[in-house]
Amino acid sequence: MPRPYHPVMQRYAAGAPAGSPIEPWAVDSPSWDPAAAALPSETWELLQRMPKAELHLHLDGSLRLATALELADGLGLVRAGSDADRLGWIRDGLVAPRAVRDQMALLRAFDLPVALMQTEAALERIAAELVEDLATDGTRYAEIKWAPTLHVRQLSLHDGIAAVVRGADEGMRRAPGVVVRLVAVLLRSHAPELGVAMAEAASGFVDRGLTGFDLAGQEALHPDPALHARAFELARGAGLGVTIHAGEWGGAAQVRRAMKVGTSRIEHGAPAWDDPGLLRELIERAVTLDLCPTSNTQAGIVGRYEDHPLPRLMRAGVAVTLSTDDRTVSDLSLMREYARAHASLGVTLPELWAIDRHALDVAFLHHEEALRARLRDEFEAFGRGEPRLAEG
Ligand SMILES: [Zn+2]
Repeated sequence: MPRPYHPVMQRYAAGAPAGSPIEPWAVDSPSWDPAAAALPSETWELLQRMPKAELHLHLDGSLRLATALELADGLGLVRAGSDADRLGWIRDGLVAPRAVRDQMALLRAFDLPVALMQTEAALERIAAELVEDLATDGTRYAEIKWAPTLHVRQLSLHDGIAAVVRGADEGMRRAPGVVVRLVAVLLRSHAPELGVAMAEAASGFVDRGLTGFDLAGQEALHPDPALHARAFELARGAGLGVTIHAGEWGGAAQVRRAMKVGTSRIEHGAPAWDDPGLLRELIERAVTLDLCPTSNTQAGIVGRYEDHPLPRLMRAGVAVTLSTDDRTVSDLSLMREYARAHASLGVTLPELWAIDRHALDVAFLHHEEALRARLRDEFEAFGRGEPRLAEG
């Protein structure tokens, strides 16, 4: 077997005891948000029943631990031990500490999942299971993102994409309450030619549920999205909705750079709050920020969850949505994120409900307006029966 390149695997190959830290990347480890945990049961119950739409969610950051363990076992990566030890090992590799130094440190939590997701069977299974997991949150619509260029060690771009498409379809069959569309993510670190190849490959799946194109990855090392202008142009021309990750490093200036790409949505973008001129531009151009406060706190973009600018952005008139970013990396569910936003950011229930409905308005369903209208009707019907969600 080739030398394992992931730090967790290297540690294991070197015989380090299970559960020992990979390296000291954690700077803090607070427990689960006590304010959210203390919400009254009626509020949890309402949040659970509320039909939800999540736009910013990564496939490779959302693996089930048990599935990852099984796949790692199949690759001979897991040493014999008790079930608890083995699960602890896989957890070390997949769940990042509550706070790390920066975005680069957070991205390390994706090395192991990417290594496990190199076959059609693995991609298909993980996509299907994620759709099932979304159903447990009361999620009705979700966009699932992944970077097809990271799953080509054994597969072609086309076959890797097709596997995720099949997995999403299978997930929707198993969890018929959930509608999922897919977003292909280009990595900032990849060569522009690879981006073009990916845009071309992704374009072939527009009518099979792949409806968006995104850019993500190491922002500090590759700050300029304009390098991938040709890929964006191709994606747009093929009818894919375009969005871009921005502001996980480099503050408001990075959000401004993303605006130049001409997207209607930006993934994250929270530091825009520091730039009043940029706020005006976001409002005037009706750009939505797909915010993930827990993930941003974890990556050190805000000092404390309570300081996240989501409520200030929203009340200033900027369109926002609320997502987890990564269920497993952040040990999170959309329910928890909603509960946290309500309990610790002071986002009221009517405000949460407005954020949720806005996600449907800006979802990449531009080829399926009848479906969008049907989902919107379902959401509105739910809202009419819930006085706690009514404004004022
Ligand atoms: Zn993201």
